[in-house]
Amino acid sequence: MFPSSCFRAVEKSQTLVINEQSRQLEASGREVFKFGFGQSPFPPLPAAVAELQAQAHQKAYAPTQGIPELREAVAAFHRDAENLDVTAEQVIVGSGSKILIYAAMAAFTHADVLIPAPAWVSYVPQAKLLGHTPIRVVSHFEGRWRMTPEALLASIAQKENPSTPSILIFNHPGNPDGLCYTDEELTELASVMRANNILAISDEIYGLLHHTGGHKSLALFYPEGTIVTGGLSKWCGAGGWRLGVALLPRSLGVGESEFKNVMTGISSETYSCAPLPIQLAAVKAYHWQSPELQVYLRHQRKLISFLGTWCAKTLRDEAGIRVHTPQGGFYLFIDFTPFQDLLVQKHKFASSGAMCQALLVDTGVAVLPANAFGMDNDYMAARLAFVEFNGADALAAAAKLGDDV
Ligand code: PLP
Repeated sequence: MFPSSCFRAVEKSQTLVINEQSRQLEASGREVFKFGFGQSPFPPLPAAVAELQAQAHQKAYAPTQGIPELREAVAAFHRDAENLDVTAEQVIVGSGSKILIYAAMAAFTHADVLIPAPAWVSYVPQAKLLGHTPIRVVSHFEGRWRMTPEALLASIAQKENPSTPSILIFNHPGNPDGLCYTDEELTELASVMRANNILAISDEIYGLLHHTGGHKSLALFYPEGTIVTGGLSKWCGAGGWRLGVALLPRSLGVGESEFKNVMTGISSETYSCAPLPIQLAAVKAYHWQSPELQVYLRHQRKLISFLGTWCAKTLRDEAGIRVHTPQGGFYLFIDFTPFQDLLVQKHKFASSGAMCQALLVDTGVAVLPANAFGMDNDYMAARLAFVEFNGADALAAAAKLGDDV
């Protein structure tokens, strides 16, 4: 009916391509090892599940910014757990952190969005959907995929118009590389951000899954310019509940600030609010002093830390793959560049996408290609999510072992 030139160009997500291909293979009777999808293997926190069941009858619309008791709980949680100076007024609750990242970017009519590579699959498409200009911040395997102050400055130098606002997407612990930054690195990066008047969106959705529990928010180092995003999807094993939070810096998050109004306006005019029963359940999850929560997090961290270290070592030692031991989250960025000649010249793979599709068909192993994470097409790497295990059983076994886990 309409010519395709009427539609916006949105590339098909590699996650969907690989998932669809996995489904087809399984339907044909093949065993598929699903290391592609980034879903927590752990069940949601029992106290939150019990509350959700108790609140299932709640049917009212909730306030767009989030119910006050949840915003209070989220602010207290981040004060206690991370020493952030945040109040309920600065908290926005949404249907997942993805839409909150989008809403924060959407507050600008036009912006340059500085996005690390590799980085999570949705940042670049979100920036493009909004008509912003994505600019890559380059990092390397040898530098453990870290964004350096020099790389950040180099990306700022690529801006066509210095007066266009700059947004930096920051993500740690990192997806796809499991990277966490040190205090010193955060301090140095913050000073570049400050000097260049950058608004940082710090995606800290894996913060509580820092393997040693030592997560430090960028907002500690750059409080005036950082929006922190997070939510229940990863540490609380509840991606499908769609509960995300954004912590606005004080200047943007108080009273009727224009920025806060745009962000809540986008929610209000699209999905309205995060569902009320989920918000009430989240109040129980966001309770830092709860001994149940502490054990739940400690056991998750020990399990994924052990598995991540083991997987990385085994891939390095047994298969010669280049990979760093993750420091947080549940991903490995596996780098096949030592086999580049074999992959490109012999197998004729034109892209990491083609390589991952062949890997899936030939071996049943599903991983996501590096080009989905912003790397050049011919950079032969992939993200492996080491979450293909029964998290409920693993947590139950860990509970029996207690602190010996
Ligand atoms: N940020 C990163 C780095 C992620 O990996 C994901 C989910 O995979 C999200 C954000 C989305 O989180 P949410 O479920 O809160 O929208």
